[in-house]
Amino acid sequence: MSDCLFCRMVAGEIPADVVHETDRTLAFRDINPQAPTHVLVIPKDHHATAGLLVGADPQLLVDVVAAAHAVAVQEGLATEDGSEPGYRIVTNTGPQAGQTVHHLHLHVLGGRPMRWPPG
Ligand code: AMP
Ligand code: ZN
Repeated sequence: MSDCLFCRMVAGEIPADVVHETDRTLAFRDINPQAPTHVLVIPKDHHATAGLLVGADPQLLVDVVAAAHAVAVQEGLATEDGSEPGYRIVTNTGPQAGQTVHHLHLHVLGGRPMRWPPG
């Protein structure tokens, strides 16, 4: 989608601070980080939300989650078996959750204690 910010980042039309890439996923640092590590992980194909993606291409949702964990390992937030220090995956869906970019993205947050519940 030519008017989608994240599609334009996948296309290389807008710069991204890429930290991880597979044939179907891209991960880059959030421009307005909310934690010492704040990376966005996206499918390269355009899907607006996780709910839409799981119906259209469930394997791609698995790939995005696997990429998020790989980023966490790369950033020193987890070991391969998923142990300490840990991290949080968030995906805002719809207006009440504050979704501003309508191309599914997982926020990978870590490097500080995470408050619960989130705001
Ligand atoms: P959300 O509000 O959950 O839709 O998240 C969108 C995220 O995209 C926000 O955390 C923004 O800071 C981030 N963002 C917006 N523009 C860019 C950009 N050009 N590069 C990296 N992150 C961005
Ligand atoms: Zn898109």
